[in-house]
Amino acid sequence: MTAAADQPGKENHGIMSTTGESTPPLEVENLTKRFRQGNAVIEALKDVSLTVRRGEFVAVMGASGSGKSTLLHVIAGLTRPDRGRVLIDGQDLSAMPDRRLTLFRRRHVGLVFQAFNLIPTLSAQDNVLLPILADGHDADAEQRLEGLLARLELTQRRRHRPDALSGGEQQRVAIARAIIGDPSIILADEPTGSLDSVTGQSICRLLQELCKEQGRTTVVVTHEPAVAVWAERIVVLKDGQVLTEFSTEKFRDLHELAAHYQDVVGATPATEVQP
Ligand code: ADP
Ligand code: MG
Repeated sequence: MTAAADQPGKENHGIMSTTGESTPPLEVENLTKRFRQGNAVIEALKDVSLTVRRGEFVAVMGASGSGKSTLLHVIAGLTRPDRGRVLIDGQDLSAMPDRRLTLFRRRHVGLVFQAFNLIPTLSAQDNVLLPILADGHDADAEQRLEGLLARLELTQRRRHRPDALSGGEQQRVAIARAIIGDPSIILADEPTGSLDSVTGQSICRLLQELCKEQGRTTVVVTHEPAVAVWAERIVVLKDGQVLTEFSTEKFRDLHELAAHYQDVVGATPATEVQP
């Protein structure tokens, strides 16, 4: 039998170290990322560090432009940082050449976006299968697909193309696509941003349930307290830096949490005022 550590791309997946501590699925160390815009240089991330435990549900909050998407893209290996490093299952992404990084990302990271990013010409089912088809045939794939479609209430919709699905259904397809390969971590960028509030809340509940039921480590970035309240822990970004972090446990309801968030980030910019 092959040890997990011998399988390319699956090293350390939930493996206990000699101290009995599980390797964290995500460690972010001192990330800095700059963008050039004309003559100006924008520091989108400044010395950001973050560790996420296995099975934890974390929300990264911050106003528009605070660096949330940049952080998620660097964690996902879609963007290389200028300084610092990202370890997923103990593996340093910065040490990987591009091709290995692409393969590693496919196996270890599940991505969910605001705009769903489904392939319009493919059925719901084929969209879900896409990430594992690229890796060659998988004997368990059919069974995993059936289980996931049933769990996400998509079985009746599996033959439909995205344009025949509601927004909530499209996002559930995207979540199924993110999970089918059994990644170490799910990363979601404003996953409710294109949905009405009731549907948005059902997507948050689904992410929370999957985290609890399946031990899916999840990081959601959002500017909305109504989304972040579903997480166990909230990390607040401001101007590319980690301002503070706190547990959601101590808040009785959304209003208390939203008030605390406003306190820590200071005055609300006009663009962020909720109707
Ligand atoms: P958020 O997701 O919190 O709204 P972003 O991470 O998208 O914030 O952006 C953080 C900052 O970096 C912003 O000032 C944004 O304009 C800038 N930025 C992000 N991506 C790029 C890019 N590809 N080129 C230039 N500037 C960028
Ligand atoms: Mg963003």
